[in-house]
Amino acid sequence: MDNQLLFARQQADRVRFAGDIPSEAEIDNAGQVGLVRRASYEGAIEISPLLTPELYKRVFSACERLHVPADLVSPFIYSSPEIQGECYAGGQGCIVRFSSGLVDLLDEDEFEFVVGHELGHFLLAHHAVNAQTTRGSFEYFRRRRAQEISCDRIGFLACPSLDAALRALMKTLSGLTSRHLRFDVLAFIAQLRKSEGASGHGLEVTHPSVLLRAKAILWFSLCDFGGLASDLSNSFDNLRLVDERVERDLARFVDGAMREQIARLKEDLLLWMTANEIVQLGVFSADVQSRMRRRFEDELVDKLKSFLSSLSKASAEKEVFQKMLAVRSELESIIPDRIVETISTLNEEVRGILQRESD
Ligand SMILES: [Zn+2]
Repeated sequence: MDNQLLFARQQADRVRFAGDIPSEAEIDNAGQVGLVRRASYEGAIEISPLLTPELYKRVFSACERLHVPADLVSPFIYSSPEIQGECYAGGQGCIVRFSSGLVDLLDEDEFEFVVGHELGHFLLAHHAVNAQTTRGSFEYFRRRRAQEISCDRIGFLACPSLDAALRALMKTLSGLTSRHLRFDVLAFIAQLRKSEGASGHGLEVTHPSVLLRAKAILWFSLCDFGGLASDLSNSFDNLRLVDERVERDLARFVDGAMREQIARLKEDLLLWMTANEIVQLGVFSADVQSRMRRRFEDELVDKLKSFLSSLSKASAEKEVFQKMLAVRSELESIIPDRIVETISTLNEEVRGILQRESD
């Protein structure tokens, strides 16, 4: 890999949001990128010194701030009233595309924020993560939302000021230009409180709410990074705290209910996996019972005990197996890409409860 690009990637990685888990895999996306490039030359305008000199300058300075070699980036503007930016990464380079609606709405400083945001997807290789996650699953949406938080940080580092970053977000949320919009950040963020508890809010969206993103950028800005290559260990300590706060906000406003459900299902699955082993052994010994009581509520263990004693061995085997299967498939529908590792962790726990050596 180009040395400068490698450096840019390492720097971007340092501010990656903790919830945005990187992928080890390399995905060869060159074919798709080639198609998008051809389609863009035909149906869009390339940002260039001759056609769009001011925008070209801004793309260039965003690249510079992020240490990205500008010749690896192909920027385009396409005609659409929608407010949209996108990034296609493949091989060594990327294509970033912006709708005319977005570009018209933003001042140049704010445009640098959105350029930086899209370059963030390229630097953090999000296309590789997304290609390996089951589309449409809870995990997929959760990851996509975490990626947006990372990319907003990169966008912030690519643009001249916090104000520009926040203004860009306010404008994209409202669709309003500076003519009608007052940039009162606190009033803007205060709106977030009113969205709490909206039913099923946002579970199947790829982006966290703009308000939540604004708050996350504000916190990030307080970490005081002097630029991507700065070396302030204090900033990194602060960054971990910011990550925790953002996680809390995401849980509170977006996916808290689903996270709780996953935790509940894991508990259920552990119980039925343990019960399954007990049924196989044909005996629910006092030792195993007392170890179960350390792990589960007493009431639950009592219930299991009377449930098992009410059945013959054959029907206990069948009933327990069916319950285990039902919980497993419910969990799998939510976290398809993590089910195997989850079950192997639970298996370890079951072994601990039964005190059996690993088999
Ligand atoms: Zn994005």
